[in-house]
Amino acid sequence: MLFADVVLPVPLPGMFTYSLPDDLCQQVKAGCRVIVPFGNRKTTAALVARIHETPPEGFEVKSVVSIVDAEPVVLPWQLALWQWVADYYMCSLGEVYKAALPAPIKKGKKPVAAAYGAATKPDGGNTAAAPLHPSQPLATEAPAPLFALDPLSPAQQQAKAAILAAWQTKPVCLLHGVTSSGKTEIYVHLIAEAIARGEQVLYLLPEIVLTSQLTDRLRAVFGQRLGVYHSKFTDVQRTDVWRRQLSAAPYDVIVGVRSSVFLPFQRLGLVIVDEEHENSFKQQDPAPRYHARNVAIVLATTHHAAHAHGTAAKVLLGTATPSLESYYNARMGKYGLVALTERYGQVLLPQVEVIDTKELQRKRLMDGAFSPRLLDAMRDALLGGQQVILFQNRRGFARQVECHVCGWVPHCPHCDVALTLHKRVNRMTCHYCGFTTDIPSRCPNCEGDDLRQIGFGTERIEDDIHRLFPDARIARMDLDTTRSRAAYETIIHDFAEGRTDILVGTQMVTKGLDFERVSVVGILAADTMLNQPDFRAWEHAFQMMTQVAGRAGRRSRQGLVLLQTKSASLPLIAQVVDNDFDGMYTQQMLERRQFAFPPFVRLIMVYVKHRNATTIDILSRDAAMRLQQLFGTRAFGPDEPPVGRIQSLYIRRVVIKLELTLPLAKARELLHRVRDELLAQRQYASATIYFDVDPL
Ligand code: ADP
Ligand code: ZN
Ligand code: ZN
Repeated sequence: MLFADVVLPVPLPGMFTYSLPDDLCQQVKAGCRVIVPFGNRKTTAALVARIHETPPEGFEVKSVVSIVDAEPVVLPWQLALWQWVADYYMCSLGEVYKAALPAPIKKGKKPVAAAYGAATKPDGGNTAAAPLHPSQPLATEAPAPLFALDPLSPAQQQAKAAILAAWQTKPVCLLHGVTSSGKTEIYVHLIAEAIARGEQVLYLLPEIVLTSQLTDRLRAVFGQRLGVYHSKFTDVQRTDVWRRQLSAAPYDVIVGVRSSVFLPFQRLGLVIVDEEHENSFKQQDPAPRYHARNVAIVLATTHHAAHAHGTAAKVLLGTATPSLESYYNARMGKYGLVALTERYGQVLLPQVEVIDTKELQRKRLMDGAFSPRLLDAMRDALLGGQQVILFQNRRGFARQVECHVCGWVPHCPHCDVALTLHKRVNRMTCHYCGFTTDIPSRCPNCEGDDLRQIGFGTERIEDDIHRLFPDARIARMDLDTTRSRAAYETIIHDFAEGRTDILVGTQMVTKGLDFERVSVVGILAADTMLNQPDFRAWEHAFQMMTQVAGRAGRRSRQGLVLLQTKSASLPLIAQVVDNDFDGMYTQQMLERRQFAFPPFVRLIMVYVKHRNATTIDILSRDAAMRLQQLFGTRAFGPDEPPVGRIQSLYIRRVVIKLELTLPLAKARELLHRVRDELLAQRQYASATIYFDVDPL
């Protein structure tokens, strides 16, 4: 009798064992989907991870109902990678399975075209050194040949040579290249060379940077060899890419978001993680709470172990503002480190000028969120036919509404946050759960009618620019104006084509965009970024400000950045002005070391959630006490996160700080044990407890 261990899309630990009827056991392989009974008279699709002869003990085994695939849809090394993700990020294999596969594959939909040949042959297609596949079952036309590109500048050539040299001894290299130094150009050359060697390439980008601006640029070079994998694509499109990657003629290059680390590659040679510092590489909710950059690094090594090349796939992390973790790894010699300090075409980095808004406010010289200096610079830019980008890190019209008489502030009934005023739709909205309600005409507390709008959001900035520059063409880019991918692309396209003069937006405008005529960038209020209660606040503020500054003056003339802040004397402001990444790094690392934060310790956040305010207090203290018994002074808390209740669930957390030398497996085992013990108690039955490893 044979048995199959299968993965089910459930948050339960481990795998599930089913027996294989004699007529099925010849046909099934690891990586194929099967239909199994699960729960009350239900069946579900599951993925076979292992076939073996050991009957499970202690319970009656149910039998596999039917087999979906003749050939695997998931390759053996992928299963190993999933297991690594589940172990490291402390979730179930089923949760990784759910995140990894496009929905139709998960649901057990029959394959449309069975063209998986190469993936399962013993040589795995690895010896296919010829980049052109003569018989392509899926591609409609032969891929366009790679044509010579723009030649690299001497500085770019040097950087590329240094990257290749670093890869001789280390699989991972960090390219620290200033904004507009032409990192993308270097990637293109490295990709072309990898393809010529018969390797596949994964080009990872944060969601928001994956614009048609970039894909057009890549498609011009790689044509049909390029596949795009995006979460805004339909299930059908994503499934097509997955199947194509299993076929005898997979895409040579995949440019994709976070989840593309889970695609089936057959001969991966190079992974590029562009904008490696970006937060959005870390998945927050639901589990797996994985960091795609780190998974990509593991992918590069896991994959190589499974295929015949014998050498690990290479990883290039690229950014103008490295994450402190990656920079530390590079400085410690774990990664190669290559710097590119000049912009392409010898364009100077923008000049950053600090404007002290505290002083201006005192003298009543501010016009709303605008200083006179910023307005002058905007006027000059527009007169000269140039464009302006304004960065305001809050969407909506006003941060909150406040009764001027009694101080009443409308809050979300489900979350512990004030409602944000959105004037365009005439509603107040919760940014955590989406709750919306009408704007009251009177204060329900004191009946007063002097309700004021506090703080500036992008909508309000947009209104003010209309008033101040009635002739200017203005676009706003934030979550509210970019609900669809098309809307987002239109805003970027119009700005690139000069159909818009001023672009105002949230951090969306700071990301990887390449425009020709932007001469002025305004950072309207740096302070909201600086005052976050978060050990990464300054690192993130530096990254965001430097990145948005980098959108200015990318072609010929030096750009101007006007940085408005009430904290003009903070060292961080000077570091942004001087583009002094090393200064920021040195100072932040001193603090991280002193207060024991990453990269000097490993953080694991233990989250507990419950509907009841009393239970959450008892539960979180119980959890902290148990954790302190096991981890001693490495366990901190419980404390309340900045938003202590979301969607009617109270949230508390216990922070675990582990020395890097501590065996992680042991710590994880203890954490799982505490969670199981707590959840086994009747009074905590409806609680949620989960872990966030390496939290942002
Ligand atoms: P980064 O990714 O470092 O911010 P980009 O790769 O977007 O920079 O390059 C900035 C601009 O300079 C782009 O418009 C790009 O087309 C141009 N550029 C960079 N390198 C070259 C090159 N070698 N030849 C021609 N144009 C280049
Ligand atoms: Zn009132
Ligand atoms: Zn809410």
